[in-house]
Amino acid sequence: MGSANGLATAHGKQPLFSFGLISDVQYADIPDGRSFLGVPRYYRHSFLVLQRAVKEWNNHQRHKFVINLGDIVDGYCPKDQSLNTVKKMVDEFEMFNGPVYHLIGNHCLYNLPRSKLLPLLKIKSLRGHAYYDFSPVPEYRFVVLDGYDNSAIGWPQDHPTTLEALKFLREKNPNEDKNNPTGLVGLERRFLMFNGGIGKEQMEWFNGVLQDATKLKQKVVVCCHLPLHPGASSKEALLWNYEEVMNLIHKYNCVKVCISGHDHKGGYSIDSHGVHHRVLEASLECPPGTNAFGYADVYDDKISLYGTDRMRTTHMYFNPKADL
Ligand SMILES: [Zn+2]
Repeated sequence: MGSANGLATAHGKQPLFSFGLISDVQYADIPDGRSFLGVPRYYRHSFLVLQRAVKEWNNHQRHKFVINLGDIVDGYCPKDQSLNTVKKMVDEFEMFNGPVYHLIGNHCLYNLPRSKLLPLLKIKSLRGHAYYDFSPVPEYRFVVLDGYDNSAIGWPQDHPTTLEALKFLREKNPNEDKNNPTGLVGLERRFLMFNGGIGKEQMEWFNGVLQDATKLKQKVVVCCHLPLHPGASSKEALLWNYEEVMNLIHKYNCVKVCISGHDHKGGYSIDSHGVHHRVLEASLECPPGTNAFGYADVYDDKISLYGTDRMRTTHMYFNPKADL
């Protein structure tokens, strides 16, 4: 398969462009530990995974950009080191020879408030929000959603958004610890404090972007730290209002792929409208010497994600019916 220069694929076409991906590096200068479910976490090694990722992306030479799906540092990072640790991670990402797009995750927000975090991640912020879009080639639009827009973390404690989110959690989750899903049934298990939702203003903005992309005949890739579809994710990791977001996406035919992080084991599914959902495997959970990063080749009719080690390779063919 493929030509001598390695650019051609099985169906003989060259990609329109390619880009690098990584998620949930969750670095901290602390000894290895475990998640609440007992899954080992390699806090120091994850930095080496990022270093190897950047080296690979640079060796490839053709990637137009790199996208980090969130949680650049871990919540256990000692708080007096938060600022320097985030800087260290951003500096490592910037060793990549091209633009880097960051998403915020809950662990980033445990370390720094939005006012400090967003400028470091070079997210052009509108009143502290972290959603934006970009178009790497005229045929494609990438939309980055801020999954912690409505959230009890990341905003000041007396901020109306924090108070509203805490009220919402009290109604939805009777446990004292709002990160505990005990007693919550089925998809209700997503009503946890480490998750969040998309607010009204962001929904309106998103609708406008999808309208514009449709007009321009662009295909859209949606990126959100929190997964948007139960088929690709644990129930406990889903965006609070994923249904509302998916209902909006399904009103249009332009969204082809949704990419997320947060649910460390990773996942993949195709929804009822042919939209692909890919949750990326976490760098944090790579035992020493192993990796979880990748790159995607983007075509007009598919996106092929090539994973390294623990990141699975996924070929996502677009539903031709969706373009009728
Ligand atoms: Zn997360």
